[in-house]
Amino acid sequence: MTSLPRKIYKIIEPEPVIEGAGVHLKRSIATRTLDYLDPFLLLDHFASNDPRDYEAGFPLHPHRGIETVTYMLRGEVLHKDTLGNSGRIGAGDVQWMTAGRGIMHEEMPQVRPEGNAGFQLWVNLPAKLKMTKPRYQEVRSAEIPEIKKESGVRIRVITGTVDGISGPVSEIAANPIYLDVFVPAHTAFSQAIERGHAAFAYLFEGGGTFGGDEKEAGAMISHPKLVVLGDGDYVKVVTDKTPVRFLLVSGKPLHEPIARHGPFVMNTREEIEQTLLELRDGTFVTT
Ligand code: MN
Repeated sequence: MTSLPRKIYKIIEPEPVIEGAGVHLKRSIATRTLDYLDPFLLLDHFASNDPRDYEAGFPLHPHRGIETVTYMLRGEVLHKDTLGNSGRIGAGDVQWMTAGRGIMHEEMPQVRPEGNAGFQLWVNLPAKLKMTKPRYQEVRSAEIPEIKKESGVRIRVITGTVDGISGPVSEIAANPIYLDVFVPAHTAFSQAIERGHAAFAYLFEGGGTFGGDEKEAGAMISHPKLVVLGDGDYVKVVTDKTPVRFLLVSGKPLHEPIARHGPFVMNTREEIEQTLLELRDGTFVTT
């Protein structure tokens, strides 16, 4: 079988959104332009040095039926849930939270001289895991392997396997890859992505040419952009004078019905109604 390059399917301009108690974000999945990229339900990018953009944070709120993935670039977020879990997510750290049947938590960015920057991705759970026990995978920056290629390309492997090196986040239903990739100027980079999996690149520094192959150059794209990739076996990125840094994420689509209501994503309206009922009568979070 020949190896098929992934072309660009769609280029999405992130939309400014105010979320939580007043946090300014750029959203590129869960918008009118791109509601859902199965299995990915939402992608937010936050980056500010002005405390007014982030200090209000995300006070106590619930989640059910999904996973939320927080990856920090700068600053720090304190989190705490009603089951008694708490911690800090600092620069370079990842929190992969499987909300499962229910979590009630707060996520509060701390005011720091370096500001606050990072991402939150929501990954859907298949029907059989929507009511699973909540689980946290919290990974410190130092535990995330960084591959340094001879070309100068650097890849932080959060989950998935690159050049035989696997990221620390494991046993995720969507069998995802989640990479933070830096490609220096005048450099080519290719990464295998399993055929049939949904995939995107989120550019957050610089720019480069995405979606080319051995014959064609692809399209020049500058940050901030979400690049949705078409199906294939690998993606190619080439830089000119400017380096580029991007998240490269893929996952296995669920092909299941979605009933979505804010922080709850289930398969049917009845399951959403049940969730709202439990919230009202105080039985939402169970140990
Ligand atoms: Mn949350």
